[in-house]
Amino acid sequence: MPRSTKIVATLGPASSDSHVLTDLISAGIDVVRLNFSHGSPDDHRERVETLRNAMRKVGRTVGVMADLQGPKIRIGKFAGRKVLLKKGQPFILDPECRLGDSERVGLDYPELVGDVVAGDVLLLDDGRIVMDIDEVEDDEIRCTVRHGGELSNNKGINKQGGGLSAPALTPKDMEDIRTAADLRVDFVAVSFPKSGDDMRQARALLAEAGSTALLVAKIERVEAIANLDEILDATDGVMVARGDLAVEVGDAAVPGLQKRIIRAAREHNKFVITATQMMESMIHSPVPTRAEVSDVANAVLDGTDAVMLSAETAAGEYPVQTVEAMARICVEAEKTAEVALETHFLDRVFTRIDQSIAMAALFAASHLKVKAIAALTESGSTALWMSRLNCGIPIYALTPDIRTRYKVTVFKGVYPLLIRYVGHSRDELLQEAETALIVAGAVEPGDTIVLTVGEPIGQAGGTNTLKLVKVGENRPAH
Ligand code: PGA
Ligand code: MN
Repeated sequence: MPRSTKIVATLGPASSDSHVLTDLISAGIDVVRLNFSHGSPDDHRERVETLRNAMRKVGRTVGVMADLQGPKIRIGKFAGRKVLLKKGQPFILDPECRLGDSERVGLDYPELVGDVVAGDVLLLDDGRIVMDIDEVEDDEIRCTVRHGGELSNNKGINKQGGGLSAPALTPKDMEDIRTAADLRVDFVAVSFPKSGDDMRQARALLAEAGSTALLVAKIERVEAIANLDEILDATDGVMVARGDLAVEVGDAAVPGLQKRIIRAAREHNKFVITATQMMESMIHSPVPTRAEVSDVANAVLDGTDAVMLSAETAAGEYPVQTVEAMARICVEAEKTAEVALETHFLDRVFTRIDQSIAMAALFAASHLKVKAIAALTESGSTALWMSRLNCGIPIYALTPDIRTRYKVTVFKGVYPLLIRYVGHSRDELLQEAETALIVAGAVEPGDTIVLTVGEPIGQAGGTNTLKLVKVGENRPAH
């Protein structure tokens, strides 16, 4: 059984040359993340080109995700690059300040002054520095430092409890959406969405730019938790963005929310990525901590589709070892996971024929304990639906659509295989599907597989046929 949990690796200075990328692909990454908070469009373009060349060399399919910066509020710069803040000292956030010192610093989002009141708590640098707001006057925010420490240029600011007015898509994000479309990325992640409308706006902008990339809503705001259902309805997938989420809701609330978000995403037929600090210590160490091993394994047991690496692969000293360790932990956790087909679909009403066929296929596959499920799919939806219910059987998405082949890379337990439909008769197509599965090492002659296909061949959303096939027995005699 191949590893079913997928690995997303962020690219950065530590993972941009073709040797490292080749090694990362061989080590098992399924999706790369381009972090649009750092780097120029040309940096991203170059990385995507290097990745695509490396991918051809290794012969594995790796999806590409563009992660938009979003309205991350940041302080300005200091005259001496950084200051040391002491507990109990006053400190002012002043949008007018050009170069900061130990008394005040600038802000890249002047509207913050209107979003906060005395008594609010601000967290800087992912919560390492905490300030209580004493008063908001003369267009500046006057605080007292509760937890001090070193504060350097351009660190982020969050307000505890959420409630910032910044819209999810900034002018920079809109520009980056066009770059992402141009790079033909497979996924676009929206940072700090608050509502379903934020996701619909992103989708409209992507469509305008000519992209059909799948959308990922990063759940990292208090409002996104409150509006989780409507966000799930409007997106294709979500990310448990634990970095900012922990700052907004308090770190101790995150593990429970992680479980809730993963469950809700799967129930809505959406995919889910668990992110941030999963293997943090491996930025500087060749081995993970016990806590990190447990964290990755627990995300697998929670049912996440993918686990994500950020600085570990973007800027760490051991990017390849980190992916190898993560892959090893996932495989081991999957062995201990309880495999039991979730049966709540038995009580559901399906009005779509393709969805009903997908469920029937799962039912048959898990009763017959077949070796593999083969979904001949144009859009990938059949494979996504099947993979939501924890059947424990590998699902091969056989598709003629090159874009679909990349989109299924993030789905748990789904493996892409490219086959050509054009000009094939139904029997030739089924024959080619069997051959592709044998070549991929998924099955051997004599194995039983469950196969779904749409007839007539070649229409998206047309899956209407379920077949149980004994591999090799359809083969015409020579
Ligand atoms: P970021 O998002 O790394 O872009 O901030 C992930 C998170 O907040 O966890
Ligand atoms: Mn974030």
